[in-house]
Amino acid sequence: MADFRTLDDIPDPRGKRVLVRVDLNVPTENGRVTDPTRIDRVLPTIRDLAGRGGRVVLLAHFGRPKGRGEKDSLRPIAAALSERLGSPVAFAGDCVGEEARRAVDGLPEGGVLLLENTRFHPEEEGNDPAFAADLASLGDLYVNDAFSAAHRAHASTEGLARLLPAYAGRTMEAELAALSKGLEAPEHPVVAIVGGAKVSTKIDLLENLVAKVDSLVIGGGMANTFLHAMGRDVGRSLCEKDLAPTALRILERAKETGCAIILPVDGAVASEFKAGAANRTCAVDAIPPDGMILDVGPRSVELVDAVIDGARTLVWNGPLGAFEIAPFDRGTVEAARHAAERTRAGALVSVAGGGDTVAALNHAGVSADFTYVSTAGGAFLEWLEGKPLPGVEALKAAKG
Ligand code: AMP
Repeated sequence: MADFRTLDDIPDPRGKRVLVRVDLNVPTENGRVTDPTRIDRVLPTIRDLAGRGGRVVLLAHFGRPKGRGEKDSLRPIAAALSERLGSPVAFAGDCVGEEARRAVDGLPEGGVLLLENTRFHPEEEGNDPAFAADLASLGDLYVNDAFSAAHRAHASTEGLARLLPAYAGRTMEAELAALSKGLEAPEHPVVAIVGGAKVSTKIDLLENLVAKVDSLVIGGGMANTFLHAMGRDVGRSLCEKDLAPTALRILERAKETGCAIILPVDGAVASEFKAGAANRTCAVDAIPPDGMILDVGPRSVELVDAVIDGARTLVWNGPLGAFEIAPFDRGTVEAARHAAERTRAGALVSVAGGGDTVAALNHAGVSADFTYVSTAGGAFLEWLEGKPLPGVEALKAAKG
């Protein structure tokens, strides 16, 4: 049983004002939504509550406003949401105060209202108790469906859960269930694949993973730092030489926890960082002084595939090479396709997310085949780092 309450624990929302924190931080161009993925993810919760006669009041942030401004207004998003939902969405120009109250009072059973950007009030990010109380006065119940904002202790993501009966929305519920299958209660053996540019941005993440997973594949630019720390010459490859002691500490820790570390044994090496650059495969002990490792090589991909074959669970963050510039996308694409195949065959639970990972898996054409691809960005990374997420913790505390 989940350690937080869900919409199933609201027996009859009819006539109740339900404050629902959602993620509507969608990319836009000239006020038009260019990717509605996040809008689509909030629809199940809205439909559930409105369909049962709840009065749905949506709270969300948009961008990083430095005060009130047209550029960061949620008004155009209300129209886009209404279109995807197939029914009207009202809008109020503030999330607290008279205008918000009037709009909420006028909302019929089954109606949906979007309130203006919560971050137009600095008290939102400050998790100000008086501001949280003002928000709470607009609702009878609180639902958090914004996992992607759960790493922030803001008034609408954390404070409210302590003031009103609090529940996880459908998308939050699905995300937490998937993440639990990935690391908290996974089927072993578990393999983590971590790639990307730098070790410096992923130290906490690597330290958490070596304590939890059976094997850790390290790829991408960050693998060069490990290879350098182990005495290899990585030529002109991206490499954080000052982090060699950190890399060695992580390797040492992995030995203690019995986590197998898989580093590249070969790489696609070029002398310039650009699409189509001439390249050749080199073993990691034979990188030319002017060469740059821009992708893992074919023998390394074979190793990664073999580890995936032996695993029941895969957690993936970060590309294995400079996947934006062909042909240095090859290692990432091949390993991702292999993981997708194992997932389709029912042999693997695969959970991925964070930063460029979604783009890399989309590029490989396998996002739909993975068990779960999180679009949560920062919240997903903090989860991978093993940090408690304030928005989730508050939901757990609300269950008691
Ligand atoms: P991150 O945001 O840390 O996951 O890093 C993703 C970035 O790492 C992408 O833009 C990749 O191009 C880059 N990257 C991955 N492997 C390499 C590499 N071997 N050399 C340079 N950049 C890389």
